[in-house]
Formats: sequence, C-alpha cells, structure tokens
Amino acid sequence: MQLYIYFLGTGGSWPSSERNVSAIAVKRGREVLMFDCGEGTQRQIQKSPLSYMQITKIFITHFHGDHFLGLPGLIQTLQLNDRKEDLHVYGPPGMKKLLHQLINLGYFAPAYSMIGHDIKGGEELHFDGYDVRCIYASHNVPALSYSLAEDTRPGRFNKKRALELGVPEGRMFGKLQRGNSVEVNGKVITPDMVLGDTRPGRKITISGDTIPYDAFIEFARDSDVLIHDATADSSLEEKANEYGHSTARQAAEIALKAGVGRLYLTHVSPRYRDAKPLEKEARDVFPESYVANDFMEVEVKLKKQDRKND
Ligand SMILES: [Zn+2]
Ligand SMILES: [Zn+2]
Repeated sequence: MQLYIYFLGTGGSWPSSERNVSAIAVKRGREVLMFDCGEGTQRQIQKSPLSYMQITKIFITHFHGDHFLGLPGLIQTLQLNDRKEDLHVYGPPGMKKLLHQLINLGYFAPAYSMIGHDIKGGEELHFDGYDVRCIYASHNVPALSYSLAEDTRPGRFNKKRALELGVPEGRMFGKLQRGNSVEVNGKVITPDMVLGDTRPGRKITISGDTIPYDAFIEFARDSDVLIHDATADSSLEEKANEYGHSTARQAAEIALKAGVGRLYLTHVSPRYRDAKPLEKEARDVFPESYVANDFMEVEVKLKKQDRKND
C-alpha cells in the first residue's frame, strides 16, 4: 500500500505569499488523513493531486488559528459537493465544542455527520491497518503531537518450507500468510512454521507547535519521517522557545536522538523568504533534514529489505 505525505501549508502564524499556514495530508491507499487545517487549506488541496472528498479523519494539534481556521470553509465545501460519509475530527479537549461552534457559523445545515472527538495526551486510536497516537506537546496552549504507525506486518512467507511440510500451493498458502493455521493430512501447520519474523510498518510523527521536549524523543523513536516545528533559526532560539516553538537546529537534535529516517522542517516563520539557512543549520546536526515547502510530496516507502514480497 502506498503512503504519501503532502505538505499543504508549511508556514507559521499567518499565510505569506510563499507559504500557507499549517496543513499536512497523509494519503494511505485511498484514504486521506489531515493533520491540522489552517485557513485556505481547501484551496491548497485543490491545487494538489488530492481530493478533499477522500478525507476521512482530521487531526488538529491545537486551537491557534493557523492550525484550525480552515475547518469551517472545508466542511461547508464538502457539503456543497454532496458528501455523505461521516467526517471525524480529533483534537485536544475542547475539539467537540469547537467543531459544534464552527458548524453553527452562518446558514449551514449539514447533510452529513461531523463527529468531534476530544482526545488526551497518551491516547491511542486504532484504525484499520494503523494506529494514531498522541502525546501532549510543550506549547503555550494545550497541544498534541501525533504519530501514525502502521500495524506490524506478518513475516515473509517461506514457500520452500511450506512445500516441504506438504502444504499444497494455493488457498492454504494464503491462509498461512494471513496468520491462520491449516491442516494437511491430519497434521496442523501453524503460521510460525512458515513465516519469518514480523516486520514493522511505517511510522510518521508530527510534532505540531512545540519547544523541544524529552518525552517526544521516545514518542518519535524510529519514525521513517519526522515533521517538526522549526519556526526560526538558532540566532532567535530564546524568542522562539519563549513563544513555544523550536529552532531548526533543535528539531535536528530531536531527529538525531529519536533515530528517525528523515526530518522535515515546518511552521517556518513568515520572516524567512528563503528558508535555506534553516535547512543548513539542521543538516549540520542531522544530514537527512529538509525544509518542507507547500505542495512538496514525499513518498514513505517500506524499508528496503522488506519490499520484495509487497
Ligand atoms: Zn502555529
Ligand atoms: Zn501554536
């Protein structure tokens, strides 16, 4: 199954001509998950290869305007496009109430269900094929960091071993691959006899607005992709931290400690017309660092040694 990240808004605080405010879409198979939905996100979606009708769940990190003011426009547009499917919106405590307020702005009578969920740091949400976990970030209002982790996949199927054990090729192979035992000539063959070690799925972690905090390192451990607040460069560290934000260098230090694959720097302050200096200072600490730009598309691939049978 393909897994893509689309950066729809990579600027902090307010939209600029270079960057729209926070919104990240994760497309997994046919499903689109949104993480934050700043003002103007629906227009960013229209300029991207995504369809907003595929959005099933929206996760909001916190209730600063640059992270949620895109919701009212988006939910009204979904209605105008005859959406019928439920839309789930998750966020820190207060999300349900906020969603209710947004739905009741102006003349809007939704014909589809929008379900708000208040979630707390430490919660784990289980979905078909993946989990979304959250943890309280260290911002100046209640805020969450999120991670999306795919379910562990069964180990690689050893066809030779299965044939040696007398399992005929065909339907029984599939049963074993899905983790079920089969019976051949009165002998029970269990999946562990023909499957290798289980293999981890992919993991994406999103810090949201935050200063660097210790618990996040474990939370982000071994992510394929880490997307981290990098509002400013190191010369403005004190100020950035005072406002509950990180610098590019601090984000890179977190990436290094958490052993992630790649780091994308986001929530770039409108003061930077050219964000290359942020990328440079991050790369001095963690070479696989990239400044995220609006409409950047990132494929998250399965780890190389695991890809043969997928
Ligand atoms: Zn923000
Ligand atoms: Zn904020």
